[in-house]
Amino acid sequence: MISRALRLDELTLAYRLKRSERRSIGLQITRDGLVVTLPLRLPEREAERAIRQKLPWILSKLAQQASQPAPQGLAHGAPVLWLGEHKRLQAGSARTRLDGENLFLAANDAPDALTLALTRFYQRAARIHFSERVAHWSERMALIPRRLALSSARGRWGSCSAAGGLRLNWRLMQAPAAVIDYVVIHELAHLAELNHSSRFWAIVEKYCPDWPVRRDWLKQHGECLICR
Ligand SMILES: [Zn+2]
Repeated sequence: MISRALRLDELTLAYRLKRSERRSIGLQITRDGLVVTLPLRLPEREAERAIRQKLPWILSKLAQQASQPAPQGLAHGAPVLWLGEHKRLQAGSARTRLDGENLFLAANDAPDALTLALTRFYQRAARIHFSERVAHWSERMALIPRRLALSSARGRWGSCSAAGGLRLNWRLMQAPAAVIDYVVIHELAHLAELNHSSRFWAIVEKYCPDWPVRRDWLKQHGECLICR
């Protein structure tokens, strides 16, 4: 099987490509994500065409899959989400780092130590990722926040104060980049409209036309994302 990634607007979808004797294209959601089975005679772009055609179905299946509870708690080998992809926790590393399918943590395999190391990893990454995405979107939307801070409020992804302070939940680092962008755009739009009026949604829509799909991801994963 070959690993592939398809860039769709703001979303990059990783999938694996399998060649087979079969006559039609097969799309399958496995524990490890999307697998496309392509008849030998078809060029690879047919796989991409099939993905685009079935995108809503794929995204909803992936969301369902990812919201399945982990088979065990936070332990060596447990699956965790990183930018919408499953990674496997590997305890006992000299330093914390991502490598392919694995997230190596500089912590022993006690659940508390793993939780702490994982939280620090998400928070450090969140600071970098959020500053970059807020800079990107605030330039395009011409809406500049006064302050950006990390939050860890349970059940709340982001907020925007009347004073122009943006808060984004570091737990969002578990969500696909496109979903994080939706939250960034949503909170920036509150700098212009501090409400959820039709004027507010018109701003969101302008920069993020497929916001309902992205918001649904958050709804489906809400509980999964806030449990850590
Ligand atoms: Zn809002």
